[in-house]
Amino acid sequence: METEKAKSKVAESKERLFHERKNGWDCLKPENEQVLQEYNRQYKSFLDAAKTEREAVDEIIRQIEPLGYQNLLECKSADKSYFNHYGKSIAIYRDGKNGLESGLNILVAHLDSPRLDLKQYPIYEDTDIVFFKTHYYGGIKKYQWLSRPLAIHGVVILTDGTKKEIVIGEAESDPVFTIADLLIHLSKKAQMGKTVAEFIPGEKLNVIIGARPLGQEKEDQRSKAAILELLNEKFGIKEEDFLSADLEVVPAGKARDVGLDRALIGGYGHDDRVCAYASLRAILDAETLDKPALVLLMDKEEIGSEGATGSNTWFLEMVLGEILAKSGNDQYTKLRRLLTKASCLSADVNAAVHPDWAEVHDKRNAGYLGGGLVISKFTGSGGKGGSNEANAEFVAVLRKIFTDSDIVWHMAELGKIDEGGGGTIAKFMSYYGMNVIDAGVPVLDMHSPFEIVSKIDTWNMYQGFKAFLEKA
Ligand code: MN
Ligand code: MN
Repeated sequence: METEKAKSKVAESKERLFHERKNGWDCLKPENEQVLQEYNRQYKSFLDAAKTEREAVDEIIRQIEPLGYQNLLECKSADKSYFNHYGKSIAIYRDGKNGLESGLNILVAHLDSPRLDLKQYPIYEDTDIVFFKTHYYGGIKKYQWLSRPLAIHGVVILTDGTKKEIVIGEAESDPVFTIADLLIHLSKKAQMGKTVAEFIPGEKLNVIIGARPLGQEKEDQRSKAAILELLNEKFGIKEEDFLSADLEVVPAGKARDVGLDRALIGGYGHDDRVCAYASLRAILDAETLDKPALVLLMDKEEIGSEGATGSNTWFLEMVLGEILAKSGNDQYTKLRRLLTKASCLSADVNAAVHPDWAEVHDKRNAGYLGGGLVISKFTGSGGKGGSNEANAEFVAVLRKIFTDSDIVWHMAELGKIDEGGGGTIAKFMSYYGMNVIDAGVPVLDMHSPFEIVSKIDTWNMYQGFKAFLEKA
């Protein structure tokens, strides 16, 4: 009785009514310490192995196949299966005791992370230094990408169709790349008075890839020649092969423990691979399932989920159709397969460089009157926001068709990064999971009452469309 009387009214009220937030570490049972550490160790290896959406899909398949998960399109029963969509998104299915009639539990996460993509004509030389031009993907604070070691990951499809997988900048012995900031001594007017959004324009996110001229002769572009020789020797790449490439610049280095107590993990791409990995492990490690489980690990979330490998498509419907088709009527599945395997040119115009307003265009990645058919790998604005983006594989198919058919063509972005933007019908076609890309002619003075096109471009577009219908 004595002690209860001593308790203040507030203390009593707190005990009865308050909710106290707990620290998870206080709740960790000693027997789970090792399991937690091991889970996080494996997560860090996953992050290191999966710095891009393509690498994530490859790594996931590498992990699940030995556990009995089979390619849904090739296996007899869907019990434990996966659907690999263009190597950039993946669905993993595991049947439950009570089958699909009982319902379905879904986990969905995304595998893409903000980064810098190489442009279609990326390589150039200035003051004997060789650079890659980039176009940022997703929302980034551009200054965070300066003055730090960077790596390049991705695929290049060569003229003969060979796919080269590229990772440079991760091994101890690899060189890295970087984007050099302006020295503070000369930044007063150029940077210091500007807002964070303005002080590093998208077009200045150019990655240094070399600086040693080839040979001794008095010729221009000797450093670029040296870099192309190196790339050709190692990967068989020629400059034209960058047209059919998905190359991503990401922070170099592995995920690391943070803090003396190692309580935290620092690394690139936690958003959203931390959730993707948890979803993967959950479906693999769950003991018995009453209802079936489906994990969807998607691409393109960081640019609005549009595009064939994004979530704003009928991917889910398509995967479920395949699962259901294993045991019944599959007319609808046939329709879905047909649409998913289709190829599409979204025929629409692009901007032609206006020489009096050249400053709104990146002249290395722009459309030109007289340049022929113009292809845009993506549209949208800012960090490719709101665009579908065609795969390197699909560009490689078109590249071969156009080249074999003597079509004059080029690739272009609408304008300089952050200068504006626009969209087309392409993203609505990619809703069905099909390959789609924008193709048209460059137009001068677009949306004016007196728009201008070139006759050589209209002709090449017509020839190119015919070649597409005949050969794709
Ligand atoms: Mn996210
Ligand atoms: Mn995000």
